[in-house]
Formats: sequence, structure tokens, C-alpha cells
Amino acid sequence: MTANLLEFDLEGLAVFCEGLGEKRFRATQLFRWIHQRGASDFDQMSDLAKSLREKLKTTAHISALPVVSQHMSQDGTIKWLFDVGDGNAVESVFIPEDDRGTLCVSSQAGCAVGCRFCSTGHQGFSRNLSTAEILAQLWFAEHFLRQHLKTQDRVISNVVMMGMGEPLQNYSALVPALKVMLDDHAYGLSRRRVTVSTSGVVPMIERLAQDCPVALAVSLHAPNDALRDNLVPLNRKYPLDELLGACVRYLAHAPRDFITFEYCMLDGVNDQPEHARELIALVQRHGIRCKFNLIPFNPFPASGLLRSPQARVQAFAKQLLDAGLVTTVRKTRGDDIDAACGQLAGDVKDRTRVQERIAQQRAQGVIPIQPLAP
Ligand code: SAH
Ligand code: SF4
Repeated sequence: MTANLLEFDLEGLAVFCEGLGEKRFRATQLFRWIHQRGASDFDQMSDLAKSLREKLKTTAHISALPVVSQHMSQDGTIKWLFDVGDGNAVESVFIPEDDRGTLCVSSQAGCAVGCRFCSTGHQGFSRNLSTAEILAQLWFAEHFLRQHLKTQDRVISNVVMMGMGEPLQNYSALVPALKVMLDDHAYGLSRRRVTVSTSGVVPMIERLAQDCPVALAVSLHAPNDALRDNLVPLNRKYPLDELLGACVRYLAHAPRDFITFEYCMLDGVNDQPEHARELIALVQRHGIRCKFNLIPFNPFPASGLLRSPQARVQAFAKQLLDAGLVTTVRKTRGDDIDAACGQLAGDVKDRTRVQERIAQQRAQGVIPIQPLAP
């Protein structure tokens, strides 16, 4: 089996090139061809010696993930479903805005944390994605979008690890992928524009601060341990005081001077005035610089939960704002294609359906963009 070069950060690629008896700087050339130019054919790489290209053909390949489906929402949001084998699929979502293009990336097929309000969590855990599978989402989306929008310029300016899976439970594959996102010879994204979102794997927050400090979002969802134990089972292992302590320490290394707290608004569960009061007291006690992002819950039947009414979300936001906490309410994007981050599993719950769609897609041989019928 030959190596998929999407698996390597620049250092890894240099080691691979050395293994072929090549100088390390060749790795930089190769890396730029792959990530900046989107090349997958070694013959395209005209400034590499023919002898190296021949060696690469027998030892390596550059492969994206097969696309099961591609949907474009009326607001320009695009959702891809990628086949990762054995009936598993993961999703990525591109969200265009006036001043940026954000790609929401998956880190695992399924998730072991099992949050009550998350459809990925309800599916259970299948497996970790490799670095190549994490990067293939960005590689494919960036180069597809450049072609689609007929531009040579970078389209994706921000990456959020908010697709399927808990990125900090797939740490060893995550970190090289983050390094490639940040590398000037690859995507050159600013640390402030790459966000890891976590349900709170405390030891890995500490390690990320050392290994690759990018922007951090923490999925809080509750102001006390009793409620959070119930909504985010990982809280039983890493309770709120430990989690907030880790956040405060992360700030010493973080590229931004605040942590984003995500808070999914669940009708009658965590959206009452006393919850807001408790939340304010919690973050004030820890003296943590933070921003709140209130997320309207995307309901799905198995959760037995409902979205908070808009007025309650606004009242909750106002309470936090009045206490001096920066608070935004997340816009729902791509609603018509079920594309909101955190709601990515809808299509993959039924494995047989995915298998059928993968087979169908292979038979068709083309990947049409499928706008949803109005
Ligand atoms: N596992 C990581 C990242 C993926 S989930 C984490 O939990 O942070 C990305 C975000 O989507 C999290 O804040 C998560 O709480 C939120 N989310 C999950 N399911 C959701 C749903 N049904 N509606 C709204 N937000 C949801
Ligand atoms: Fe996993 Fe995040 Fe979903 Fe929780 S919210 S189950 S951690 S993907």
C-alpha cells in the first residue's frame, strides 16, 4: 500500500522524502503542489525532477475522499457527505459570508461523548478519522470551490472543528492536520481563524496549548455540574471547575484573548433566567475572559428535546449582555439542507441508506450539485 501524502504535515513529508533519498526542501515543493495548487497527479509537478516523480508514483498517492453527495442551500451554504468506508460517512459544511469563508470539518465518524442534544452523539462512535481524512475535507472543498467560483484566490479563510466527532478525542490525528492548515506553504490560515471546539477533554486542552494553540471553543451548555452531567456525559469525568480552570490556563497561549463558550438553547432545560444567573456567577468566579455563542437547538426526534423559543433566547442573551458578557446568537445557516454544524449526522444515521447512495453515486460517476427543491 502506498502512502497518502495528505497524511503528512511538512515535517512528516520531509521525513518521507528523506526516506526516498531526497533532500528535505523537495518536501516543501511537493507540499505546495498538493495543498496550494490542489495537485493530485505527480506528472503535473513540473518543477520536480522526473526521477523523483517516478519514485513518488510507486510509493505515494494523493487521494480525496469519495463524495457521496453535495447539496447547496439557497443561502450559498454547501454540504458534502464523504464516504470513509464500512458504511460510514462524515460531513463538511462550507458557510460563505461577506468577509470570510468558513469550513466546518469532522474529526471522527460518530462520537463517543454521547451528548443528549446531538445527533452524532446518538449514533455512537465508529472510528477516528486519520489526518489525511481530516485534511481531505479541506483539500477537496478549497480546490472544488476555487474551480466552482472560477478564482485562483483562497476561498476558505476559517476552519472550525465543529463537524462530527470530538476533535480532542482524536488528538494525534488532529494536531498534524491543524499544522497543515496553519502552514504558509499550505493553507496559511491564521491561528485566530482555526477553531477547535470541544466538549471539554481537559488534559488535551492542556496539551493543545503547548502543541498547537489555535482558537478554542468550549461547548458548555449548562451552568452547573448536575445539569451538565446529564447533557454532556464527559462532565462526570471533567467537571466544570476543572474545565474552566483549563480554559483560564489555555488563554496564556491562545491566539485570541477570550474563549468562546457555546451554549445550545434547550426549551425548559437550560434556558431559564436562573440558569443565566448561575452562568454569570460561574464565569465571574473563574475570572475568565470569554464570549458566549447561543446556539438555537436543531431538533431531532430521538432527542426528546425542543428548541427554545426565540424570545427566551433573546432574554437569555440580554441577561448575559447586561452582566457585561459579550454574547451572540448563532445565525442558522443552510437550514434547508440540514447543514448546521452539530446537526451533521442526519444523513448518516441509516447506514444502509448511505451504502445505497454511495453505490448509486459510483454508478452515476458524476457528482452533481443538488439544490433543494423550493
Ligand atoms: N464535539 C465537539 C465539536 C463538534 S459539535 C463539541 O461538542 O464541541 C459542534 C457544536 O455543535 C457543539 O457546540 C455542539 O454542542 C453543537 N451541537 C451539537 N448538536 C446540536 C444540535 N442538535 N443543535 C445545535 N447545536 C448542536
Ligand atoms: Fe460529540 Fe460534540 Fe456531539 Fe457531544 S456535541 S456528542 S462531543 S460531537
